[in-house]
Amino acid sequence: MSERSELVVVGNGMVGQRFVEALRSRDGGGRWRVTVLAEESWPAYDRVRLSAFFDGASAEELSLHQPDDGVDLRLGEPVVAIDRERRRVRTGAGEYRYDALVLATGSYPFVPPIDGAYVAAGPDAIGPTPSLRPGVFVYRTLDDLTAIRDFAKGRRTGAVIGGGLLGLEAANALRLLGLGTHVVEFAPRLMPVQVDEAGGAMLRRYVEELGVVPHLGVATTAIRSRPDGELAGLTLSDGAWLPTDLVVVAAGIRPRDELARDAGLTLGERGGVRVDAGCRTSDERIWAIGECAAVEGTCYGLVAPGYAMAEVVADRLVGGTASFPGADTSAKLKLLGVDVAAFGDAHGTTPGCLDVTFTDPATRVYAKLVLSDDARTLLGGVLVGDVAAYPALRASVGGPLPGPPLALLAPAGDGTGTGSGIAALPGAAQVCSCNGVTKDQLVGAIAEGCVDVPGLKACTRAGTSCGSCVPMLKQLLSVSGVSLSKALCEHFAHSRQELFEIIRVREIRTFSRLVAEHGTGRGCDICKPVVASILASLGNGYVLDGEQASLQDTNDHFLANIQRDGTYSVVPRIPGGEITPEKLIVIGEVARDFQLYTKITGGQRIDLFGARVEQLPKIWRRLVDAGFESGHAYGKALRTIKSCVGSTWCRYGVQDSVGLAIALELRYRGLRAPHKIKSAVSGCARECAEARSKDFGIIATDNGWNLYLGGNGGFRPRHAELFATDLSTEELVRYVDRFLMFYIRTADRLQRTAAWIEAMDGGLEHLRAVLVDDSLGLCAELDAALARHVGAYSDEWRDTLEDPDRLRRFTSFVNAPDVPDPSITFEVERGQPVPAMGERRPVTLGLPTTMGVPS
Ligand SMILES: Cc1cc2nc3c(=O)[nH]c(=O)nc-3n(C[C@H](O)[C@H](O)[C@H](O)COP(=O)(O)OP(=O)(O)OC[C@H]3O[C@@H](n4cnc5c(N)ncnc54)[C@H](O)[C@@H]3O)c2cc1C
Ligand code: SF4
Repeated sequence: MSERSELVVVGNGMVGQRFVEALRSRDGGGRWRVTVLAEESWPAYDRVRLSAFFDGASAEELSLHQPDDGVDLRLGEPVVAIDRERRRVRTGAGEYRYDALVLATGSYPFVPPIDGAYVAAGPDAIGPTPSLRPGVFVYRTLDDLTAIRDFAKGRRTGAVIGGGLLGLEAANALRLLGLGTHVVEFAPRLMPVQVDEAGGAMLRRYVEELGVVPHLGVATTAIRSRPDGELAGLTLSDGAWLPTDLVVVAAGIRPRDELARDAGLTLGERGGVRVDAGCRTSDERIWAIGECAAVEGTCYGLVAPGYAMAEVVADRLVGGTASFPGADTSAKLKLLGVDVAAFGDAHGTTPGCLDVTFTDPATRVYAKLVLSDDARTLLGGVLVGDVAAYPALRASVGGPLPGPPLALLAPAGDGTGTGSGIAALPGAAQVCSCNGVTKDQLVGAIAEGCVDVPGLKACTRAGTSCGSCVPMLKQLLSVSGVSLSKALCEHFAHSRQELFEIIRVREIRTFSRLVAEHGTGRGCDICKPVVASILASLGNGYVLDGEQASLQDTNDHFLANIQRDGTYSVVPRIPGGEITPEKLIVIGEVARDFQLYTKITGGQRIDLFGARVEQLPKIWRRLVDAGFESGHAYGKALRTIKSCVGSTWCRYGVQDSVGLAIALELRYRGLRAPHKIKSAVSGCARECAEARSKDFGIIATDNGWNLYLGGNGGFRPRHAELFATDLSTEELVRYVDRFLMFYIRTADRLQRTAAWIEAMDGGLEHLRAVLVDDSLGLCAELDAALARHVGAYSDEWRDTLEDPDRLRRFTSFVNAPDVPDPSITFEVERGQPVPAMGERRPVTLGLPTTMGVPS
C-alpha cells in the first residue's frame, strides 16, 4: 500500500506505549500514521514501579516515553466515544478518523460499594471515575499518588482495604508517608492470590515487624466520617471499629471496557473487550491489548501478557500472523522490603500434584515447589524471603526439575549452580517471561554476535522489564564461552576505569553531561553511584551539591549508614583510635541525650546507632562543635587506620605506630574509591593492629616501615602481600599515595584492592613497577592528584551544617518535616536501645524444617 493509513491508539499506558514502539520499529515504510489519545496528562510511565514515587522518583524518572516525530501524542485528551460506522473516535477536542483502532485503555481500580465510600452512593458512583469521598483514594496513577501524598500531610493513620499485591504496596506507601498503617483483608492471609497459607504466614510476620497491622478474614462494611467531615474510621465485619484518617482502596481492578461496551463490541463474560488470539475485537478494524483486553475471554492484570499482545497487534498491522502465545502470570516483587515470588501453578491446582516445602523461621525463608504426580516436572512454586532461585525455577516450569528439590529450595540458591543454572534448562524454556524470550532465542542472539547483556536486551528485549532474568542472561553468556563485556551497565559501554579517564580528561563535572556525551538513557542504580564516586575522587566539591545529590546511594545521601530498622548510625572519625577524655565524654553525652545504642568497633571507633534521619543534624552539630568530623562510615571511602600503641607505650614497639596512623588517616580521609578502604599500623612484628588483613598495612621495623598491599576481611579474607621493606616515612607515604590513586583510577566498580591486584597482569610485581619504578610514567600525575585531594579536603558534616538548604534533606517525610517516622520503635537489650522486633525469638540453631519431600 503506498498511501498512508490512519492508526489511532486509545490510551498511552505501559502497553499502549510498547505497542507504538513495536509498530514503529516494524513499520519501516511508514505505512501507518499514528495518533495516540491519552487520558492522563503524563506520557506513558512505568506503572509497575509507581510506588518508587514515594521513594523520591519523579514522574520524569518513571517515564517510558520516547520522543518520536512519527507519533502524534495527545495528552489529557480522553476518547469519549467510538463511531464504528464512520470509523471515527470522538474526544472533547474533536474527532479522529481511523483505518485501524487499538484500544489500550487498561483497568480502573475497583471500589466495592462500601457504605460511606462515595460522595453520593449509587450505581453512578461505581466505575472508572467513582466520586470517592475526601480521604478515600485508589492507587493506580501518578495523580492518585500525588493526591494521597498531599492528603497525608499532618495526618496520623491510614488504612488500606485489600491485602493483595497492590494493597501491600499501598501500605508501604502510607508507611513511608509517616502514617500508622493498617491493612484490612477479607481472605485469611495476605496476598491470597499469589501465596499459599504458609507463605502468607511468613509475609504476615514481615509486615508486622514493619509496624503495619494486618486485619485478616474481615471485610470493611462502612467508612464513617466525623461531624466536621473528616474521615473517622472503618467498621469491620466482625464489629470492630478501626479509626483512621485516610483510606486507600486496593480491592482489585476491572478492565476499562466502557468505550467498547458503548460501541457495541463484544465483551468477555467477566468484562474486558473480547479479542481473538490475534487480539482483534468483534470489529475487524478494532484491536484491544493490555489489561482492557479479554483474550479468548481472559483478562490479564500483569504487564507481561500486555506486552505480548502489543507485539501481536504490531505484527498483524504490518501483515504478519502472530498470535497471543499464552500468558506467564509469574511475579517477583519486593513488597515492604520483602522479596516474594510466585510462578506457574503456585497453588497446586493440578490434579495429583505434590508439594515440597521448606520453612526456616530463623532466616524467615519460605519456599514451595509444586511438582507433577511423578515428582519429575516442575509445575510452579512460591518463594518468600529469598527469591534468588526464581529466574531459574520460573524458566523450568513445565519441564524436568533442574536439580534435586531440596537443593533448589535451600536458601542462597542463587541459581548459579550447575543443577539449577541455565545450562540445565531445555532450549524452549522461557528465560524472560515478561517478554516471552526463550533460551533458544537467546542462544541464537549470542551466536549472531550479541556478546553482552545490553546487546541481548537490545536484540531480544529479554531483561528489559522486571529485570529478574538478568542474572540468567549473564550465566548464559558465560556458559556460551563469551567473556563478559566490561560495560558498566546498559547506560555506559565503558568500564569504570574508562569512565574515570573520560571524566578526568574531558573535565566533566555532571552526570547529565557524561550520559549525554558518552552514554544513553538516564542512568541507573549501578552507574549513578559509580559516577558520583568518580566525581568525588576527582574533587568535585561537596558530594550532595546540585545534581550530585541524586546520584548517591542511600548512605551517602544522608551521610550516614542506614540500618535494618530504617534508622541511621553516626560514626565520628577517631584517627588512629586516639581520643581525649573530653571527646569521649561528648560522645557519651550525645549517645545518652539521643538515646543511641553505642558500640566500640573493631576499627577503633565508636558507632552510635538508632538515630532518626531528622536527628542527624542535631547530633552532628554537637559532635562537630566538639571537634569531631565525619568518619565516612557510609561511603566507599577510606574508613579507619587502626593502630597499636607502638613505641610510645609498648615495651616491644620500635616505631610510633599511633603517630603514623593518625597522620595517614588525616591524609586520606574522605578519599572516595571503588570500595571501602581500611588500613592499620603495627608498632612491631608482633602485629597487634592486624595490619596484614587490610588494603594497605604497615608494620614497623628497626629501620622504618614494611608496607603490605591487598589484604581484606569480608567474604574472602586475604592477607596483604609484602610490597616494600624498611621504608622511610616519606617513602612509605609516597607509595601509599600512588597505590591509592592508581587503584581509584583503574579498579572496577566495587572491586576491592585484593581482587584488583589479583586481576592485574603481573600482579604485585607490575604494581611495584608502576608505583616504584614509574614504568607507566604516571607517578607525577598520581602524586599530584593525591596532593589535590589533601588540599581540598573539607568535612562533609561541617559543610552540611553550615547550609540551611543542605539541611533540608534531613527529614523522615518530605511533606511533613517535623514528623518523626512512627514505625521506628525500640526496646531495651543489655541496658541499651535496640530496634523493636515484636515477639523477637531467640536464634535457634536447629535445622530448618522440611516437609513432604517426594521419594
Ligand atoms: C502500583 C502498581 C504496581 C504494579 N506492579 C506490577 C508488577 O509488579 N508486575 C506486573 O506485571 N504488573 C504490575 N502492575 C500492573 C501493570 O501496571 C499493568 O498490568 C500495566 O500497566 C497494564 O498496562 P496497560 O497499558 O494495559 O494499562 P495502563 O498502564 O493502565 O494504561 C492505560 C491508559 O489508558 C488510559 N485510558 C483509559 N481510557 C481512556 C480513554 N477513553 N481515552 C484515552 N486514554 C484512556 C488510562 O488513563 C491509562 O493511562 C502494577 C500496577 C500498579 C498500579
Ligand atoms: S605490635 Fe608490637 S608495638 Fe604494637 S602493641 Fe603489639 S607488640 Fe607492641
